[in-house]
Amino acid sequence: MIFNTLRFYDKQTVMKRGIITILLLIETLFVTNPLFAKTNKEMGKDTFNYIVDQFADIQVLRYRVDGFEKLSLNQKILIYYLSQAAEEGRDILFDQNGEYNLQIRKTLEAIFKNYSGDKTTKDYKEFVCYLKRVWFSNGIHHHYGMEKFEPKFSKTFFIKEIESISETELPLKENQTKTDLINSLSEVIFNPSIAKKRVNQAAGEDLILTSANNYYKNVTQQEVEHFYDSLKANGNQEQPLSYGLNSRLIKENGILKEEIYKLNGRYSKEIERILFWLEKAIPFAENEQQKNVIKKLIFFYQTGDLATFDEYSILWVKDTESQTDFVNGFIETYGDPLGLKASWESIVNFKNIEATRRTETISQNAQWFENNSPIDNRFKKKEVKGVSAKVISAAMLGGDCYPATPIGINLPNANWIRQIHGSKSVTIENITDAYAKSALGNGFNEEFMYSEKEIELKEKYGHLADNLHTDLHECLGHGSGQLLPNVSQDALKAYGATIEEARADLFGLYYTADKKIVELGLLPHEDAYKAEYYQFMMNGLMTQLTRIKLGDDIEESHMRNRQLIAKWVYEKGKENNVVEIVERENKHFVKINNYSKLRLLFGELLKEIQRIKSEGDFEAAKNLVEKYGVKIDQELHREILDRYKRLNLAPYKGFVNPTYTLITNNMGEITDVKVSYTESYTEQMLRLSNK
Ligand code: ZN
Repeated sequence: MIFNTLRFYDKQTVMKRGIITILLLIETLFVTNPLFAKTNKEMGKDTFNYIVDQFADIQVLRYRVDGFEKLSLNQKILIYYLSQAAEEGRDILFDQNGEYNLQIRKTLEAIFKNYSGDKTTKDYKEFVCYLKRVWFSNGIHHHYGMEKFEPKFSKTFFIKEIESISETELPLKENQTKTDLINSLSEVIFNPSIAKKRVNQAAGEDLILTSANNYYKNVTQQEVEHFYDSLKANGNQEQPLSYGLNSRLIKENGILKEEIYKLNGRYSKEIERILFWLEKAIPFAENEQQKNVIKKLIFFYQTGDLATFDEYSILWVKDTESQTDFVNGFIETYGDPLGLKASWESIVNFKNIEATRRTETISQNAQWFENNSPIDNRFKKKEVKGVSAKVISAAMLGGDCYPATPIGINLPNANWIRQIHGSKSVTIENITDAYAKSALGNGFNEEFMYSEKEIELKEKYGHLADNLHTDLHECLGHGSGQLLPNVSQDALKAYGATIEEARADLFGLYYTADKKIVELGLLPHEDAYKAEYYQFMMNGLMTQLTRIKLGDDIEESHMRNRQLIAKWVYEKGKENNVVEIVERENKHFVKINNYSKLRLLFGELLKEIQRIKSEGDFEAAKNLVEKYGVKIDQELHREILDRYKRLNLAPYKGFVNPTYTLITNNMGEITDVKVSYTESYTEQMLRLSNK
């Protein structure tokens, strides 16, 4: 998966969604602290403290950057500078997520720093919880569910605290008084009917007017679509630019115009700081290719020119030699209901050479997988190209990758670049490791899995099979198959993302069970795939519902995809009793009776999903998604939420970053870069805000 985010599109929708996929396997996301600490001790190893903080539905973890010490001095310095650049775009994302977000965050931080009252009151505690949630979501909406947070502290508290702070410490805009600030922010925070959702996907509504993100101002969905359709129609059809990617679209005096994110444009101040660090990084690049990548990125930030962005993406995808790598810029479009506007994000990383052997094996066999896939031959790629598979360790996360974090990356997003030049697909193993290790012994499996047998399978093979599924999803799944000539990438519109994720997941599921996998040494036993099958079905049919509020539909495309797959195979397999939902002591459990038939059903659905995508069959996509992916059985949902609640676990996780310090000698030369893991969540957030 790819972490948590979500949404829909038009444009390069389909492949795009593969970009940073957030594949959160839900089970790996749950953790409880005391149990975990105990497990570690018992195991007598890895006493690293993975759990940093917990509030609302969030648990904050820490990841280890093993192997950093072994990098060369130049590589370490490069990572240091790129990491600094990764920290500089945070305010861009806050602003993109909602026009009041920055002012709200700064106001809350001013209250937090100035507060001198009783810290045991409900108001104060709930206030701190709210602030931590705002930090986590980079705004006032839930990072995954998209709904606005409901503040559980009182408006009276909020107003009283602001009144006690001097104006110089408040983020007042020009000509704004303290009273104006209070009035405007209390409305936004406390009035539930304002800015309800950051990204609204509800069919039939004006998705632009009803989404509270800050990518558009004073424009309707129709105007947006018209504006970008005509740009597209007048541009290069074979190699279309990513129109709208790096701008806000506004209407002024009746005229639509884009405010471009660039130096001397929108977000100039933040971009200037990003450029400062990127310039410093250049001399430490590993090779000429990487140097050119950084230089081209700088040029893109200076000009905002989308053709330059494509040139940059091509240079970037071709740099497969460097051990260190990074993303820094406007990349993913999950935050825009139309999938045009990209949020700012950054991730700095280096290759985990050992683990990369696994994905290299997969990509060396890419053509075999394509040829043997259960899809119609017309939709197969004659030549599967450019899948560069590697496993990386994250060294720094920023913007939309932070604190909620992807576990995989598959870039660039532009379809034509992927077709001609390939893509880079990576699994971020130190993040998935931290998920898995922090979740040991939290009681989740015991509560939801059918029997000891499934639990045992999961303990034995779960992590391996899960990593493999993610690799297959990212390295091969998104890149497999082809559209028929004249079928537009956008043909499936708002259903495109869900269908694309389903395609990649099914590809992975189908092959996880293949003999070839054991032959290639990717799984140690021919039963190992069952761990992933069980986990997937349980998650898709039941446990992912722990992340949804009772009464709500499923909106996020990865989640829709998972339920779509699980429900479809459940229904189709009913006749042969392939998968059952069994009731025991008023609790429901998923029971898989026939794993090999289940695999065939996955293959059957993959075939149909590929057909839908290749032919651009909008009606079929809509029917599948609406029938299987959206609606939830209310009674089952209530039960799952109750059982889950009793476990006292947090359904969402994110990460604090390590900190890096330059070590210099008395000549002022850099002799080393030190990594440390001591900063708390609150310390880190305040430090970034004060940068
Ligand atoms: Zn994906």
